[in-house]
Amino acid sequence: MIIEPKVRGFICVTAHPIGCATNVQRQIDHVVVKGPVPSKRKRVLVLGCSTGYGLASRIVTTFGSGADTVGVSYEKGPEETRTASAGWYNNRAFEKRAQAAGRIAVTVEGDAFSDAIKAETIEAIKANLGQVDLIVYSLASPVRTDPKTGVMYRSAIKPMGTPVTSKTLNTGTGEVSEIEVQPATDEEAEGTVKVMGGEDWELWIAALAEAGVLADGFQSLNYTYLGSELTWPIYHKGTLGRAKGDLDRAAAAIRSQFGEHAAHVVALKAVVTQASSAIPVVPLYGTLLLKVMDEMGIGEGTIEQIDRLFRVKLQGEPALDEDSRVRVDDWELTKTVQDEMARRWWMLTTENLGDLADLGKYRAEFLKLFGFGLGGVDYSADLDPRIPG
Ligand code: NAD
Repeated sequence: MIIEPKVRGFICVTAHPIGCATNVQRQIDHVVVKGPVPSKRKRVLVLGCSTGYGLASRIVTTFGSGADTVGVSYEKGPEETRTASAGWYNNRAFEKRAQAAGRIAVTVEGDAFSDAIKAETIEAIKANLGQVDLIVYSLASPVRTDPKTGVMYRSAIKPMGTPVTSKTLNTGTGEVSEIEVQPATDEEAEGTVKVMGGEDWELWIAALAEAGVLADGFQSLNYTYLGSELTWPIYHKGTLGRAKGDLDRAAAAIRSQFGEHAAHVVALKAVVTQASSAIPVVPLYGTLLLKVMDEMGIGEGTIEQIDRLFRVKLQGEPALDEDSRVRVDDWELTKTVQDEMARRWWMLTTENLGDLADLGKYRAEFLKLFGFGLGGVDYSADLDPRIPG
């Protein structure tokens, strides 16, 4: 079949096998060209390994630091007439390239929140790595079933307390408009903490400890977004911010049990990923940020952020903020960037969007997540979607 993008709202329901593999290779090249990333942590578990920041973390640790990895992600496999999820193609492309480089790369596909997948992952660690020195927690999901009670929780991306009115962008039509988002109920706020808070991170660490697969001096990282005043009403001060705040609690709890280096929350920059494109207001902020940071010569995508995290921020004793977080969102949050973001934000309209923001790049970055629009790929080729690139 000829595989073309089919965008439905903020998701693309098709993925291109060769394009996804090219996207993985492009990220590997970025790391390899910059040279080795010194690290003693050679056995790595990446939760949420197939796309976005998790995939970038697996690539930097493998191709920068020579690590062996076990990855976990939730995927849809291909059928004769239906493409797989982008993450499925990414996983196959990553495994092939990591194994060709002499590294172990084993992927467990299923619900990381479940006890069954935790057990399967522990078996994969025992069989392939023995123990793990580093755990990267990069899951982003709208739902989670509590393994103890069987109750399914849903996250809601809403403000707390009072309604929020904000500018927003329809990335399909390019229309800038105002939206009013109603505040979350208590139940929605609690649900979001259950899904995106620190509980599952703690359950993973407890399960790994109980199985004896945590190496002495292990480190675990969990990714967060803090952002600026422009997104605070909907994000940081909303339900998602409350859930992310719970990561700081979980990190402190893990550190008190396993030591100072056992858990750090890492604040990352806003980038275009499947998860971020589903958050109201964030795509508008993202299109502006792409243009502003590119104009200042400090633009970074997913792989650049994670490369800088491991290559610079985690070398030696990591510098931490007052809440013990590692900050890689430092460039995004400089006063120069945020002053310019605010100036443009308030004057932004549908008419001047093309001058002030970069919707074209945003759309291109979004399609690349699904393997479309990458140089050197023949998109007119008739492919069997069951064959990864
Ligand atoms: P993403 O959508 O690209 O990746 C999510 C990963 O989680 C995928 O590998 C997916 O398969 C996996 N996953 C989801 N549900 C799962 C389940 N039940 N079981 C197993 N795997 C599952 O998302 P992302 O944007 O890379 O987000 C990763 C983390 O980074 C999140 O904590 C997010 O809040 C944080 N973060 C993102 C941004 C951003 O702008 N994208 C900024 C800062 C921090």
